[in-house]
Amino acid sequence: TAATTTDIQDGQEAAVTSKPAATIAREVARRRTFGIISHPDAGKTTLTEKLLLFSGAIQLAGTVKGRKSGRHATSDWMDIEKQRGISVASSVMQFEFRDHVINLLDTPGHQDFSEDTYRVLTAVDSALMVIDAAKGVEEQTIKLLDVCRMRATPIVTFMNKLDRETRDPLELLDEVESVLKIECAPVTWPIGMGKNFRGVYHLLNDEVMLFKAGEEKADGAYEIIKGIDNPRLSEMFPLEMEQLKMEVELVHGASHPFDLERFLSGVQTPVFFGSAINNFGVREILSALIDWAPAPRERDATVRAVRPDEQPFSGFVFKIQANMDPAHRDRIAFLRVCSGRFEKGMKVKHLRLGREVKLSSVVTFMASSREQVEEAYAGDIIGLPNHGNMQIGDSFSEGEMLTFTGIPYFAPELFRTVRIRNPLKTKQLHKGLQQLGEEGAVQVFKPVMGSDLILGAVGVLQFEVVASRLLNEYGVDAVFEGTNTSSARWVSSDDKKSLADFETQLAHNVAYDAAGNLAYLATSGVNLRLTQERWPKLQFHATREHA
Ligand code: GDP
Repeated sequence: TAATTTDIQDGQEAAVTSKPAATIAREVARRRTFGIISHPDAGKTTLTEKLLLFSGAIQLAGTVKGRKSGRHATSDWMDIEKQRGISVASSVMQFEFRDHVINLLDTPGHQDFSEDTYRVLTAVDSALMVIDAAKGVEEQTIKLLDVCRMRATPIVTFMNKLDRETRDPLELLDEVESVLKIECAPVTWPIGMGKNFRGVYHLLNDEVMLFKAGEEKADGAYEIIKGIDNPRLSEMFPLEMEQLKMEVELVHGASHPFDLERFLSGVQTPVFFGSAINNFGVREILSALIDWAPAPRERDATVRAVRPDEQPFSGFVFKIQANMDPAHRDRIAFLRVCSGRFEKGMKVKHLRLGREVKLSSVVTFMASSREQVEEAYAGDIIGLPNHGNMQIGDSFSEGEMLTFTGIPYFAPELFRTVRIRNPLKTKQLHKGLQQLGEEGAVQVFKPVMGSDLILGAVGVLQFEVVASRLLNEYGVDAVFEGTNTSSARWVSSDDKKSLADFETQLAHNVAYDAAGNLAYLATSGVNLRLTQERWPKLQFHATREHA
């Protein structure tokens, strides 16, 4: 009987393993994972809400920022967000549209949180850039685009707020091309603007989509008139149509036709015009993302590149976020699946720790709620409960030693020392800072000599968030004070002796970060330069990747 049992098991196993290969390929092909990038106030939140309307999660419209607000209510940390009307925490939303699984990664737009934003962009396959057409290219957009360029991320552009007086559309395209250094391929073109906004002309389909203000239709269906020369159009809008025809001629002559290859290699962006608040032009962007944006692609890891349709599961953590409930200090590690199939309860290897973990209570981020995941494929984001042992950049696999690369930390530009009012809380302070450091909320440096911890941030608001969270989550009343540190550089060298000498001789300015990497804390630009000259065998890095 024993032999028979084995036979059956073998047979079953063969059936089970041959099915996933096709399933994985099919599931990967129907996934789109993108982030929205914009300068604050361009309309990212509004657009996100409208995108979610298409998923059928209609009740969500108008609630993106206030999501789970009941749970946030007790936390001062979220109060900061509310007071300033900014989105501190990025979130992940998954929904289905046209038989595709869309993973939308929200990125905080406020410049204080750019570091977190940057890392979120390492987990996407494409990006949607929202521009306020009245303002054009703004500062934050420039920075975010630079990050997208690091990985040649394909970008779809949405010119928003055409229901208002905007800048000249041709001028807007010019600005995108010259400032952001990306070629524009207009796909829709606006007919009028502000009070005279009539709709958009689809340059590839030769049809006009008529604008109607205040439409909140879930399907985003608008009246469509075929053909730019359709007499109905010139009857309805004689002036605007004349203007449109002139502009279209100019556009055809002066701008680039849409080219899928150029888009996929990140050198060209298709441009759409519309109004997010009126849900106008939103479906067109979603269609562009489905039709043109890439499904999950190969990702670089040490040793080799990993294909999304490989059978074994792999992925990396790009973000860690405290649970919304301050009473529970558990945190969620956001993992992007890079290959294979994740199944609830599976055992995977946490490669940095060389430890096997069982992923049983993993959450996904369906637009309507946090749900337990049963399975996930490349491109999906899953949330792993994290009790302090996972760090940003950690890779997971079914055993193969892979480390996904390209998840950056940026050298902080602002520094503070921490003092506490109650010295009995030192232990809590250290614990809190260690955890917040691992989460990427702030960078924590422990000088080799001396007992003060030094905090580094990219934006000053990060310190406020940390102070507020230390108080609420760890019961530590901390005071932040200025320090003479002006910049930090991670230090590495093949010459171990030089490195050791450096550490002892400059003990007051050499520190370890939360992940245990050596850094030099410079007191000025001159000081940094001189130190670099004096220690030619050492390399000083302004960014570091997860080791
Ligand atoms: P975010 O900071 O990028 O998330 O921007 P929001 O989505 O919060 O939008 C900023 C402001 O612009 C809000 O007052 C929105 O109501 C408004 N807004 C967004 N889209 C449009 C639009 O299409 N037309 C107009 N007139 N206002 C818009």
